[in-house]
Formats: sequence, C-alpha cells, structure tokens
Amino acid sequence: MILVTGGGGYIGSHLVKKLKEDGEKVIVFDNFERGHKWAVKGVEVVEGDLRNKEDIKKVFNNFDIEEVYHFAAYSLVGESMQDPMKYFKGNVCGTLNLIDVMTENNVRYIVFSSSAAVYGNPEKIPITEDQPKNPTNVYGQSKLMIENVLEWFSRLNKIRYVALRYFNAAGAYYDGSIGEAHDPETHLIPIVLQTALGKREKVYIYGNDYPTKDGTPVRDYIHVMDLIDAHIKAMQWMKSNNKSDVFNLGNGKGFTVLEVIETAKKVTMKDIKYEIAARRSGDPAVLVASCEKAKKVLGWTPKSPELEKIISDAWKWHKNFEQKETIF
Ligand code: UDP
Repeated sequence: MILVTGGGGYIGSHLVKKLKEDGEKVIVFDNFERGHKWAVKGVEVVEGDLRNKEDIKKVFNNFDIEEVYHFAAYSLVGESMQDPMKYFKGNVCGTLNLIDVMTENNVRYIVFSSSAAVYGNPEKIPITEDQPKNPTNVYGQSKLMIENVLEWFSRLNKIRYVALRYFNAAGAYYDGSIGEAHDPETHLIPIVLQTALGKREKVYIYGNDYPTKDGTPVRDYIHVMDLIDAHIKAMQWMKSNNKSDVFNLGNGKGFTVLEVIETAKKVTMKDIKYEIAARRSGDPAVLVASCEKAKKVLGWTPKSPELEKIISDAWKWHKNFEQKETIF
C-alpha cells in the first residue's frame, strides 16, 4: 500500500486522486488541520498527527505500507517567521517520527516534499540543485533540516529518498474537481483569482522595490499535475535504481507578481485591482529553477508550462469551488 501523509492538502490530494485513477491502493494520513476531507472522498483515511508517534505507528501496524509520499507540513513562509516553533515541531519533529516508524518497519522508500525555499537568495539563476543552501526563512530551514536527516539515513543504508524542491505549485486537477484551497489563503494565484471573483477587494503586492524588471518578485510557477507526474516518476526511479537524490521541480521560467496579475486579467476577463504594500518578511527576490536534472534523470517533462494554462486551470476550479463552498 502507498501511504500519503498530508493527503488532504493541496498537492497531496492531487497525487492521491491520480494514484487512485492509476489503480493503486492508497492510504491517507492527515490531521485535517489545513487539509480537507472533501478532497479525499472515497479514499481510505486515517486521521492523526505525525507529532504523536503512536498515531503514525498504528498506521504501519495496521496496513502493509511499502512506500511513502510525505507532504504533511506547515508551508507558509510568513507564518514560519512569526511562529518558528510551530514549524520546527510540526515539520521537523513530525517527520522524524515518520522516519523512525518507517525504519522500525523496514519501509525504505520516501518521496519528500521539499522547497525552493532551501536556497534562500540564490547566487545564480536558474538555480541548480548544487547551489548553496541558505534559507532566509524558518519554513525553508525546516525543509533543509529534513533533507539532511534523510541523506544521513540513506548513507547509512536505512532508507532511500527523493527530495523534490518545489518552486511555486499552482493550477488544479485536469477535470477541475479539486484545486488549491488554503485557509488562511496566502498564495498569490488563489488570492488573485479570489479578487477576480469579487471575494477580495484587491491584491496587496508585497513590495515593488526588488531588483527585478518591474520591482515585484519573480517566481517559477509549475502546474500541480506536472508536479504529480514528477512524484510518480521519482518513486519509480528510486525503487528501480535503489538510489536517493534531490531534484528541483519548476518550469525554468520566472514571472513577476505584476505579470501574474496581468495574465489572470486576461484569463478571467475581469478587472483585478491591486495596491503596493510592504515587503513580506523572508521573501527572496527571484526564484527560478533549473529543472534539467529532473528532466535528464527522471525522464520528466512539464506538460503544461505556460502561465496562462496554469492560471486558466486554477480559474476553472476556483469558479466551481466558490459556488459550492458552502456545502463543504
Ligand atoms: N505575493 C503578493 N501578494 C500576495 C501573495 C503573494 O505580492 O497576496 C507575492 C509574494 O511576495 C511572492 C509571490 O507573490 O513574491 C508568490 O508568493 P506565494 O505566497 O504564492 O508563494 P511563495 O513564493 O512565498 O512560496
């Protein structure tokens, strides 16, 4: 069986749905603090918290787990700077319990959700995996700490891991049935689309004095279904080669916040108001991936690299979700 921790979250729920469609046996472990039960309807679910080792131990005792996709984590840069202990306890202690239980049960394979935030302010763009890791926020640091733990367990031959450093995941499932729904919502594309729907008055742009072409930060947006494809390929690669490694997942192309808003205006055909606000603590100016390694080693190619396609898939789901929101 395949264990997906954080399977109720944005990216986790997209993987779960894809694995089910592929005919795999999946079990979701989630505390549903931020994840959604509606996103994993019809799937075997265990409600629990990785910070309680007993909760996760039970899953391994009761089910024959062969491989793990580990998404469960807090993932907000701003929040991590205000409440660092939440991130160290949630992301680091929680994952240590998971690794502990995996090794106790001789489960060797884990795909770990890491982040571009491990690089901090990169020396060179696009960012290759071997660049220095100097996180500028606690969230990135918590992901880097786990990468280091996984590397030691791999060197000691106790597990094999693939850490996937996501750039900016966006978009929704192909059929628009699930998508990005955070509470609180802090991510740019959902905020822009909620503004297009009239749920917000305007978008606050966190700083326009960065050293970029229009002064707003540059990010590499990647379609969530391309991310999912890379996860499945990473698991297959790890199992067939018995190796561990780290890969960036992005498109290799960056867009400023203003460019995202302009593209969203085009896609939604709505006016989207914005106002320049103060910088958000911990935000690097530019994060753009080199994803050559994932392409070469995993044989992965993003199928939907265009920002317009990413935003229009997100928009399809947002319109649908906002209408149905009250029934969830
Ligand atoms: N951003 C913004 N206003 C918002 C949300 C985000 O200006 O309401 C900017 C943020 O500063 C960053 C980019 O949009 O440069 C992407 O932010 P997001 O939170 O989506 O992802 P992150 O890059 O922090 O993982």
